[in-house]
Amino acid sequence: MAELTRRFDWSKTPVGPLDTWPDTLLTTVNLLLATRHPMFLWWGPELIQFYNDGYRPSIREDKHPKALGQRGMECWPEIWHIIGPQIEAVMTKGEATWHRNALVPIHRNGKLEDVYWTYSYSPVRDREGNILGTLVTCSETTEEVLGERRLRQSEARFRRLVEEANVGFVIGDLAGNLTYLNPTMLNLLGYTAEEVDAGLVRWSDLTPAEYAEVDARAVQELRQFGVAQPYEKAYIAKDGRKIPLLVGAAMLAETEGRSQEVAAFTADLSELKRAESTLRQTEKLAVVGRLASSIAHEINNPLEAVTNLLYLIASEDLPETLTKYVRMAQQELARVANITTQTLRFHRQSTNPKTASLSQILDGVLTLFQGRLRNADIIVDKQFGNAGPVMSYEGDLRQVFTNLLSNAIDATPPGGKIIVRERDVTDWRSGTRGVRVTIADTGHGMSAETRKMIFDPFFTTKGITGTGLGLWVSAEILNKHGAKIRVRSRRKQPGQGTVFSILFRADGVAAREALADVAEKRSA
Ligand code: ADP
Ligand code: MG
Repeated sequence: MAELTRRFDWSKTPVGPLDTWPDTLLTTVNLLLATRHPMFLWWGPELIQFYNDGYRPSIREDKHPKALGQRGMECWPEIWHIIGPQIEAVMTKGEATWHRNALVPIHRNGKLEDVYWTYSYSPVRDREGNILGTLVTCSETTEEVLGERRLRQSEARFRRLVEEANVGFVIGDLAGNLTYLNPTMLNLLGYTAEEVDAGLVRWSDLTPAEYAEVDARAVQELRQFGVAQPYEKAYIAKDGRKIPLLVGAAMLAETEGRSQEVAAFTADLSELKRAESTLRQTEKLAVVGRLASSIAHEINNPLEAVTNLLYLIASEDLPETLTKYVRMAQQELARVANITTQTLRFHRQSTNPKTASLSQILDGVLTLFQGRLRNADIIVDKQFGNAGPVMSYEGDLRQVFTNLLSNAIDATPPGGKIIVRERDVTDWRSGTRGVRVTIADTGHGMSAETRKMIFDPFFTTKGITGTGLGLWVSAEILNKHGAKIRVRSRRKQPGQGTVFSILFRADGVAAREALADVAEKRSA
């Protein structure tokens, strides 16, 4: 630029030939050309332009070398509305300007391009203090500004990814300090972001003692390979619950002045564990079922033999007292037979469904409970509404009602009451016909927690006397019937007790089978 400036024919510009230049101009231009930092000068009222090698790359061929010796206004029409007033202020008031990363779009590479600058305009004065020019010290910061913007965008994208993810993310260090938990993780553990920021949540607080060893192994892996293969552990939530999780971790790139960070991801395994345990229980149940049915089978044969023998004895001519004992023995034996068929047969395969009156089935079951009801001093209020028949597997329904009544009796204190109701119902929206059976007791009711669990297999509040299978089996059977079961229960209040209500529909799969069954009978 020094060369170009020297050779330039300044006599054709208002500045005049080089040897007529005032000292101030000479000094300023020399300073400018000798400086490596980008600099630019507007001189005199016409704002004639000078610039140095440092400045050249910012204007490219579009303005270089044309800009040398050109009037400011002619060189910068695209931004004159921005810089014109700024230069004016410098030239008239002598006020220096300072702009940081300011967008000043200029014509470059054949188009109007967004260019960012950090620049200062300062007045150039002569000996008397008159302002003769505007000196520009600037650097183009387009790369930095756009780079930073891209970084911010990419950061925002990753942040979103991490914050919206269903997977838990944790950032911390090998010493066990935690600096970040994503919302999924916070929710799972019940902590707030503020508690994490305050350093109140530490890796050691989250890890149950029995997992300290596997954690130590993972840290070892991290140190050695930079990643820890996913492994199963549990975390302790704020309320003390242990939550099973899958955890994997990786070291993050080293950041200066900070101990090296670790990023861990976690997946909640609660659902999976629950499913696994249900599966295990179902397997257990299958074994119990098979056992039960084989016991029932084994007992049935001798039972039949004894029944026959008692029958033979009863038909002998016996003294009256003996006849009485034999009859009592027969009754007790009938009860045992009933237990084997009713209670132990939940493994039994169902036969074809038949249309049956639910009140008749209920009556049959209630008869079996007479003894127990009398012993427990509980009265039964039967409210049978002469409802239509329902297509069902009768044996299965007998089992459902047996379970419900048995539970009601267990829950009801002496002097209590059990209401058994049967009613025709019609869904007013669809016009579907059905029958509702209600079994209500005045017993102790159940807590909200119990309510949630009663249909789970092996859930019982009765210790060793309960199996926890009754309601589970009942729900399965009702499901097969397309029937819905509902429970309402109140504790420790006047009018407390439990109401089980079952809605049987007449239009399920069973209903269609029923129609076929009826048609068959008619045509036969
Ligand atoms: P089990 O009777 O062997 O305990 P169930 O599956 O039949 O198993 O019942 C599960 C649990 O549901 C019972 O232990 C009891 O806590 C609760 N429950 C069932 N019916 C009633 C009822 N009518 N009143 C109060 N609690 C009940
Ligand atoms: Mg039960």
